[in-house]
Amino acid sequence: MTIIENGSLRERNTFGIEATARQLVEYDTVEELQAFIRERNAQLHRERNAQLHREKNSQLPKETGADVEVPNCQSPLLHIGGGSNLLFLGNVEGTVLHSNIRHIQVTAEEGDTIYVRVGAGILWDDWVQYAIDSSWYGLENLSLIPGEVGASAVQNIGAYGAEAKDFILFVDTVDLLTGEVRHFTAEECRYGYRDSIFKHELRGRYAVTHVHFRLSHNFQPRLDYGNIRHALQERGIEEYDLTPQQLRQTIVEIRRSKLPDPSELGNAGSFFTNPIVGRADYERIAATYPSAPHYPVDADHVKIPAGWMIEQCGWKGRTLGHAGVYEKQALVLVNRGGATGQEVKALCHAIQQDVQQRFGILITPEVNFIG
Ligand SMILES: Cc1cc2nc3c(=O)[nH]c(=O)nc-3n(C[C@H](O)[C@H](O)[C@H](O)COP(=O)(O)OP(=O)(O)OC[C@H]3O[C@@H](n4cnc5c(N)ncnc54)[C@H](O)[C@@H]3O)c2cc1C
Repeated sequence: MTIIENGSLRERNTFGIEATARQLVEYDTVEELQAFIRERNAQLHRERNAQLHREKNSQLPKETGADVEVPNCQSPLLHIGGGSNLLFLGNVEGTVLHSNIRHIQVTAEEGDTIYVRVGAGILWDDWVQYAIDSSWYGLENLSLIPGEVGASAVQNIGAYGAEAKDFILFVDTVDLLTGEVRHFTAEECRYGYRDSIFKHELRGRYAVTHVHFRLSHNFQPRLDYGNIRHALQERGIEEYDLTPQQLRQTIVEIRRSKLPDPSELGNAGSFFTNPIVGRADYERIAATYPSAPHYPVDADHVKIPAGWMIEQCGWKGRTLGHAGVYEKQALVLVNRGGATGQEVKALCHAIQQDVQQRFGILITPEVNFIG
């Protein structure tokens, strides 16, 4: 385990925002994390007791202090992964945790199906490459998504018609309040579009230590989304001949052509989620914008691309302070150099206001604001 006081977070968020953490803790095993939490709780308990003891003595100087209950509180620990979906609004005055658990273990095999337990600290794209190299298929469309395996189970990452939840069986965690291990089935994780229970009532409560995936030896390419088929044609690749590696490479190339590389231009990918609106709202918008792009979700709901709405409001390519909207994709906010988290937040609010005014729809950030 490594503990750094006043550790820099600059290289730990893809926006490239300057910020520090009062304490930055890198742990290598579940046991190390548990020991850290228990020691921290013991220390908090001691400090709280001493404080209550002092308060009691100052009010009732003659009485001695009895052992005092520690009130239950939400964990002030922040667990990060690769920082590709975070916006630091200032320095973090508490402890930031990061996992270095990086092993991959096959737990079972049944016919074509393979079950694999993967450490949270592995880079997501390294895992995708490893799976393909091992002839375990399913994750190809999720190639090149930044971040780590642990966060994939928090965020339910998705791209090109696939989502992490399609492959997650269950998730191993450690309770950051008690240090106890808890397993969540995929059902208990309550996965939805870029969503899970870890983003709501259990937000910040559990550290994901391992994710269990179910993959297949049988390659079944998913080509029906976006421009995958067109991109394969352009590369002269026939569907019947397509290999998993070729599909991965094609997805990688499409993504590189559309999204800024965070090492060159700080960003966190799609800044907003695409709103799912009622049919009546969509029809109201379509009356003014007959060619508004939209994707039916069910009989009553429609998804409208947030990027299209932002573009209609004239934000594409614009700059506010040191933050801006990416020239090629209005859904991506970028750090034009030296932006603070507050500047990115101000840009976010300005865009939200304009979209709300023009379309009557509130777009919400996908990115996690810290601070
Ligand atoms: C260029 C670019 C393109 C992107 N494209 C996509 C895309 O196509 N699809 C998509 O879904 N996302 C995309 N993203 C967003 C991002 O890649 C995902 O949200 C990713 O899952 C974040 O992983 P991370 O490890 O960086 O997590 P972080 O950003 O560090 O954290 C994200 C959240 O997960 C929590 N967390 C992280 N690790 C753990 C853990 N081990 N235990 C408990 N909680 C944890 C954090 O507290 C935070 O709430 C993109 C981002 C960028 C920069």
